[in-house]
Amino acid sequence: MNQPADNQSIDTDAQPTGTATISAAAFELGGEPVSGLDAMLDEQHPRKRAARDWAAEHLGAAPDSFDRVRWRRAAEAGFLSLTVPQHLGGLGRTLVDAMLSFEGLGAGTSDSGLVFALASHSFAFQQAFVSHGTCQQHDRWLSKLMAGSAIGAFAMSEPDAGSDIATITTTAEPGQDDPPTWHLTGTKSWVTLGPVADVAIVFASTDPSRGRWGITAFVVETDRAGVTIGPAVDRMGLSGAPFGTITFDQVMVTTDDLLGVVGAGGSIFATAVEAERALLYAPQLGATERLLDQAIERSCNHQSAGQPIGNFQAVSHRLADLKVELEASRLLAYKAAVLADLGQPVTLAAAIAKIKTSDMAINGALDAMRVFGAEGYTIGAGIEAELRHALAGLNFAGTSDVQRNVVASLLGVGRLRPT
Ligand SMILES: Cc1cc2nc3c(=O)[nH]c(=O)nc-3n(C[C@H](O)[C@H](O)[C@H](O)COP(=O)(O)OP(=O)(O)OC[C@H]3O[C@@H](n4cnc5c(N)ncnc54)[C@H](O)[C@@H]3O)c2cc1C
Repeated sequence: MNQPADNQSIDTDAQPTGTATISAAAFELGGEPVSGLDAMLDEQHPRKRAARDWAAEHLGAAPDSFDRVRWRRAAEAGFLSLTVPQHLGGLGRTLVDAMLSFEGLGAGTSDSGLVFALASHSFAFQQAFVSHGTCQQHDRWLSKLMAGSAIGAFAMSEPDAGSDIATITTTAEPGQDDPPTWHLTGTKSWVTLGPVADVAIVFASTDPSRGRWGITAFVVETDRAGVTIGPAVDRMGLSGAPFGTITFDQVMVTTDDLLGVVGAGGSIFATAVEAERALLYAPQLGATERLLDQAIERSCNHQSAGQPIGNFQAVSHRLADLKVELEASRLLAYKAAVLADLGQPVTLAAAIAKIKTSDMAINGALDAMRVFGAEGYTIGAGIEAELRHALAGLNFAGTSDVQRNVVASLLGVGRLRPT
């Protein structure tokens, strides 16, 4: 049975009913298609500025928990339709184009949880669902997902299987029926939006002897008999993006619920996570840019020993170094998105972008805290919150340790370990 999370702010009027209503004027949907080069070279690209200004006006300060009203507001502005092809009712944007929007969202609001959740829904759940879903699955869910009246979750990790997906213990045992059925049993953990999700892509082993090649993906609505949604887990940041467990107890699934074919789950996961790895960090680029702007302003206006602290080389070089790191991260992230748009292998580029950007965001928040002195340590300044949000990047979309394994193995050194 589906048990609603008890500590979430959920608008009960907002159950799946609607169709997508996309406000084309909300953040400059028109204009020329965006080229990867333009996106890389123009740090204040109009698409990014438009999303930043929209977020600043419509999202503002972060609430303490997930809020469906804000979720729907973002959906109505089009942020959940960006990369869905036009023939399926979406905006048909490239990944690079969508990345500009998410970078802008990160720059425009301190509600990093909501922006992370929107990105996770768009780039993990929805990308895989669009690429591998059937017409029936699309007809049932896509318009609601884009409208914000249904929420999707991407459930792979388990309490004892995070970095190594080959060791998941959630199984889909075949039944005796024709056409085939399976019974899903197991627990998924740390599932972003799990506590509020209406539907999940669930990865389960249909052949445990084949490791990652025996994994199959299913699309399962969370009110199906045998599904239990756990409460949102308390954590240090990203409170607008609840995560938790989803448990399956002999949940019956059929061929209609398959995402892709039996045994394709490992590669569906790898493809989705590789693109996600670059795109999920776009909001951190925007958030760090926002912090850098604040730190520059502070260094010009705050005085020590009768002069602006920016006159001290220790401070000015700290800001210069942060700009270097931000620019390098940005170029790496956009490179990965360009490659994904071109249909080229993205494994190496996404791993490098993830390693660089996640560290940059943490160090950037620490640098801002240094520039702000004691005030940076106060809750009111908001910088400690940015640090708490940035720390999540150590883990989501695969840890940096594991990404280093990926890079090393592509250099011909060491063993390729999990995604
Ligand atoms: C904010 C957030 C959102 C998330 N959302 C989702 C989601 O929506 N869906 C989902 O399925 N999961 C989600 N996750 C889970 C995330 O994918 C896992 O946390 C991640 O894969 C790491 O797994 P783990 O936490 O079990 O750590 P472990 O795999 O137990 O790793 C623990 C430590 O050991 C290191 N380690 C493990 N294996 C290796 C190795 N082979 N080589 C080198 N070092 C290694 C790791 O780097 C880490 O330091 C989310 C996590 C966070 C923090």
